[in-house]
Amino acid sequence: MSEVRDTRGRMLFAGSFDPELVSGIEQPTHVVQTLFDVIGELSTCCAKENIDAIVLDERLLASDSDSSFDAIRRIDPFPIIVVSGENRIHKLADIYVPQDTTSERLLLAVTNARSQPTQKPEPEEFDLDEALGFTDQTKTTPDGKSLGDVDLVRMLLHDPSNFRTTLLTLLKEQTEWKYCEFVDDETRVPHNAEFAQLRYGHQEHGILVAIGPTKEQVLRWGRWTSCWLELHLRHRQMKLLAYRDELSGAWNRRFLSACLRREINQALHARRPLTVMIFDIDNFKQYNDRFGHDAGDEIIREVVRLLQATIRKGDHVCRVGGDEFAVLFCDPEPPREAGSNHPTTVEFLAKRFREQVARAHFSKLGKDAQGTVSISGGLATFPWDGSEVDSLLQKADERLFESKRHGKNTITIGKEK
Ligand code: GH3
Ligand code: MG
Repeated sequence: MSEVRDTRGRMLFAGSFDPELVSGIEQPTHVVQTLFDVIGELSTCCAKENIDAIVLDERLLASDSDSSFDAIRRIDPFPIIVVSGENRIHKLADIYVPQDTTSERLLLAVTNARSQPTQKPEPEEFDLDEALGFTDQTKTTPDGKSLGDVDLVRMLLHDPSNFRTTLLTLLKEQTEWKYCEFVDDETRVPHNAEFAQLRYGHQEHGILVAIGPTKEQVLRWGRWTSCWLELHLRHRQMKLLAYRDELSGAWNRRFLSACLRREINQALHARRPLTVMIFDIDNFKQYNDRFGHDAGDEIIREVVRLLQATIRKGDHVCRVGGDEFAVLFCDPEPPREAGSNHPTTVEFLAKRFREQVARAHFSKLGKDAQGTVSISGGLATFPWDGSEVDSLLQKADERLFESKRHGKNTITIGKEK
């Protein structure tokens, strides 16, 4: 186990407190009277004397306190905000302590709040930037010159997947510390190293570990690092929001266009086929009418779950409209059957998926509803059915309607060429 070291800054008290409570706190303290004073202290304090906890007398807060917390966190997202009082109505506070708390209890509560696991960044289970073409050939690092902030911005724009690595390289260059690393938990901090939690508000970004600097220096660089990591995370979150369908968790139509354009280009260069399937749930309106809109939503989610379990790792599921979906079969295709232009695996996957939906039990439709949901689809393959996004999707759509015309619950593959 690593030794636990003191990484505390100042504790700021705002309002009226028992002098014994304040004097019993080991770390530097400062008492102010109003919320405006808190804002002033946060805006003017220098990096050397960070405020790492703010204890607010509940009587300073209006019942609708969100804007006060928001103002404080906009200036400095790092301090733990403690409300001292009996009414636990301020939902944006980190912790509450009773007015008659002791110095020990207050310190313990702040320490606990700081060590509590906060939101972890979403695991980067798949390279969104790669799929969308954000990761491009633009040169992001200068040759033989040291890095600067501008390189971090360029990494965000052109090579976000390697952002963390560049950030660490820049830190090492700027500080010339003997050792500098990001780790996930305190047990991995060497005993002779200083460390700083990389936090931004409620978001945790790991731990910065360094050998060589003072605690203050690591804390200061830790704050700088946290800001960049937060920007990187929010950039990614915004992209996910822009390209994901909220209801089902599948990708959306915007993703389909961007990803398909890129995949067609790659297929063209690699001289391999690329297949897209469009499908639509049969008679979906009647489920909504009979079982309600919520049950309809659940069917959409369940269909996406089934599909995600059926396809391969590099394939993508997109919801392109109400009950209409597209699947991009992006994994490099295996050898095709002699005389067939259609990769057997993709065809097999599409058919198997249709059968799975037809057999699936949708709990929202009641016990006896097994086998009542079906889908109709159409496949189109680059380059035979189209060499552009629109023409390929249009072909798949035409085949979907062919499936509907022929009685539904079927996938139209297209004529062999
Ligand atoms: P068809 O077999 O020809 O596809 O018939 P259909 O009843 O499925 O007709 P269509 O695909 O045109 O209807 C789609 C319906 O999906 C219309 C709309 O009420 C419903 N819908 C669209 N978006 C949502 C949604 O987000 N949730 C739910 N529950 N229903 C939706
Ligand atoms: Mg439909």
